[in-house]
Amino acid sequence: MREAGAMTEFDRSAGSLCLDFVATVRDWPERRIELLGTPAELTGWFETAGLPVAAGGLTEQDLLDARTLRAAVAEPDTAAALSVIARDAINLLAGPALGRIRACDSDGCATLFYDRSPSGRRRWCSMRRCGEKIAAANYRRRVAARSRP
Ligand SMILES: [Zn+2]
Repeated sequence: MREAGAMTEFDRSAGSLCLDFVATVRDWPERRIELLGTPAELTGWFETAGLPVAAGGLTEQDLLDARTLRAAVAEPDTAAALSVIARDAINLLAGPALGRIRACDSDGCATLFYDRSPSGRRRWCSMRRCGEKIAAANYRRRVAARSRP
């Protein structure tokens, strides 16, 4: 914790909002300085960052939530990785891309994929896994048909 009465100066030079937020705690080998020691200090950081503050002011719970978020940003873990996947799913399933989610046309393959092709007519999960197999089978069929009398 900081010494009582110390002025809070928030560094906004990290180049991103979340990294500026991580910089509100300074972990040095033998000294830790917490710049968000009170809800009022969190309010100050919000104001410095240009973020809105709830009309009733911030609470101790808001401070705990903020520190939890900060720790998640500073120390990515499994939950952070899973949240990225969840965010991608929300973006995909709740947006216009939903109509471009397809199942592979190859027999025995039910892999889902997002059709990013300009025509919107992609048929296989991947050319390497299924597309080339189908193309090779079609080629063999055409060659066999030509060689028949
Ligand atoms: Zn496939």
